[in-house]
Amino acid sequence: MTETVRTWRHIPQRYNLTGSKCLQCGNVFFPSRIICPECRRKGKLEDLKFSGRGKIHSYSVINTPTDEFKDIAPYVVAIVELEEGAKITSQIVDCDPDSIEIGDEVEMVFRKVREEGEDGVISYGFKFKPKT
Ligand code: ZN
Repeated sequence: MTETVRTWRHIPQRYNLTGSKCLQCGNVFFPSRIICPECRRKGKLEDLKFSGRGKIHSYSVINTPTDEFKDIAPYVVAIVELEEGAKITSQIVDCDPDSIEIGDEVEMVFRKVREEGEDGVISYGFKFKPKT
């Protein structure tokens, strides 16, 4: 029980969808960077909290996953282009894999990633689902 509570308490720090934006060139990075690869020392990076909205840049349907994920197959893994400009690889949930198309609008959701052992330690992370 204490483990579950502790996991929950860490969610805001661990799973806020934040990256960096370079104020010099406007490039957006995820995960966060310390140095802009374009501007190097002239760059000025600032934390950026993403809206969680984006669209599907490319995707693949996973039919034969590892054992850990076999219960949810087939599922979709996509590269999502966030509206701020960065790209993220994520599972797409709550969708029919046959109906996904490039360019579909998606939004971020928090989902259980896995549950471990009898203590019920639950890990959460961000995923995306089709925008309704
Ligand atoms: Zn830059």
